[in-house]
Amino acid sequence: MSAETDKKQPMKTLYGSTPEEIENFVTAQGLPKYRAAQLLDWIYQKNVLAWEEIRNLAQDMLQKLSGEIRLTALEPGEEKKAVTGGPTKFLFKTADGHFLESVLISQKDSIEDEEGEDVNIRGRRETVCVSTQLGCKIQCAFCASGQGKFTRNLTAGEIVEQVARISRMTGKKITNVVFMGMGEPLDNYDATLKAVRILIEPWGFAFGARRVTISTSGITPKILEFVKAVDGRVRLSVSLHSSIDEVRSSLVPINRRYPLKELVSALRKINQDLKREITFEYTLIAGVNDSEEEAEGVSMIAKPLRAKINVIPYNPIAEFPHKAPTPEATERFCDQLERRGLRVTLRRTEGREIDAACGQLRLDRMRRQD
Ligand code: SF4
Repeated sequence: MSAETDKKQPMKTLYGSTPEEIENFVTAQGLPKYRAAQLLDWIYQKNVLAWEEIRNLAQDMLQKLSGEIRLTALEPGEEKKAVTGGPTKFLFKTADGHFLESVLISQKDSIEDEEGEDVNIRGRRETVCVSTQLGCKIQCAFCASGQGKFTRNLTAGEIVEQVARISRMTGKKITNVVFMGMGEPLDNYDATLKAVRILIEPWGFAFGARRVTISTSGITPKILEFVKAVDGRVRLSVSLHSSIDEVRSSLVPINRRYPLKELVSALRKINQDLKREITFEYTLIAGVNDSEEEAEGVSMIAKPLRAKINVIPYNPIAEFPHKAPTPEATERFCDQLERRGLRVTLRRTEGREIDAACGQLRLDRMRRQD
């Protein structure tokens, strides 16, 4: 009955559909409108992954619907858990045979300062990091996703289905979603915006908007457009990685197109006019961006924005032969920022043994296919 594995089906799926789209679909099938609300509940609240799991529709009706539209777009692939605990990485296969990856990060709620409600009933924060593209055109020097070739954008359905599948596979109540996996979310603007709406609307997954974070490498005009489109409700995280244009351009090539001055002025608008908070991601790379001069430059950028800095020690990949900073150097850099009055969090790169850097597992899988 399931159309899940039929590669010839178009990529239209129930996952990724809005209430209006599902309503149009059910009425076209001669079903009453209230069936649309039931289907929405089955997919986004109960996270069903096969038609057979839908229990309040007659078998012949399910048979008919499954012949008309796919329920899901992904198939489960590998699951890799760090031996020492920490993140679990999931590899999924799209219906057209490509691989994408997502990560589940389980944390006790003490890592961050704010929002005690960011945890589930077991007092844990379960964060799914989703991919938005197959590969990435931005090609940041230190990122495995930028090294593999760009294949295509993911659909909104493929994005939100990662959350549903991980919740079902692990039995965990997911509390947060971050768009920090493979791909630049704002380079896949429409699907990202649709996926965010599905995640935060009451008819969708119904996550609190502050539990959803969009991370961008800095496509400046799209940042403003996106923040306005979601009315500033979701969190915004921007990859900074250096306060010096020349260094940042070597790490994040999009900086040549949208240099720091332009980026910072857009962020100022978001912070001052729209009163939205910003977090900067800062991948700390030994001998590249860990100097006191950088700490000073970061503080000049971040302080007027009252932005938080998330320091991530570099997780080495073969394609970018630089070293991870030592724990002492990392601490020193964080201290230098804190002494300048910045709020700093240190994200540990647990799970180095599971190729935890973004895109590494997919890259490895693609190489094994060659
Ligand atoms: S860090 Fe993000 S934007 Fe940069 S190449 Fe990797 S996935 Fe793309």
